[in-house]
Formats: sequence, structure tokens, C-alpha cells
Amino acid sequence: MSESGELRVCKKCLLREMTKETYYQNLQDYLEELEPERKSSQELYEKRLERCKECEKLINGLCRACGCYVEMRAAISENKCPCQYW
Ligand code: SF4
Repeated sequence: MSESGELRVCKKCLLREMTKETYYQNLQDYLEELEPERKSSQELYEKRLERCKECEKLINGLCRACGCYVEMRAAISENKCPCQYW
């Protein structure tokens, strides 16, 4: 947030340049701004994430099979699990 109160968005930052809080907020903003027609239903999203939580490839929110953050991957309905678990 700038001094004037406007939300500032950096489109050129790398993860290593962000605080953890900023990164998490960016993730939430990304999920909220997804086009509704691309978005998984809440039920499908939760089902996918439950499966990820049981998966040996999930480490710190990251899928070691594809390199994606699973919360982002699962949010888009057309995406698939690289190991075909969902
Ligand atoms: S996307 Fe698939 S392979 Fe990756 S963590 Fe989730 S269930 Fe496991």
C-alpha cells in the first residue's frame, strides 16, 4: 500500500524479493480475480486440495511433480494433476 492509500502492484517482482505476507496476499488476489468461467467450483477445489494433502509429492504447498503451487493449479477447472490423482 502506498502512502496515499492506493494499492500498489508490482508486476516485476520475484518471489525472493517479496515478504511471505506479500506473496500470500498475491496468491489470494490471483485466486479472487480468476475469471469465473475458468474457476473450479468450491467443492471441486476443496476435493483436489484434500487429495494433494495426502500426496507424497506435496511439499510446502508446492507439487514436486509439476512445480506448481497446488492452490493455484487446483483453482482452474481445466487443470489436471500431473500424476492423474485428480
Ligand atoms: S497435483 Fe497431484 S501430484 Fe501434485 S501434489 Fe497434488 S495430488 Fe500430488
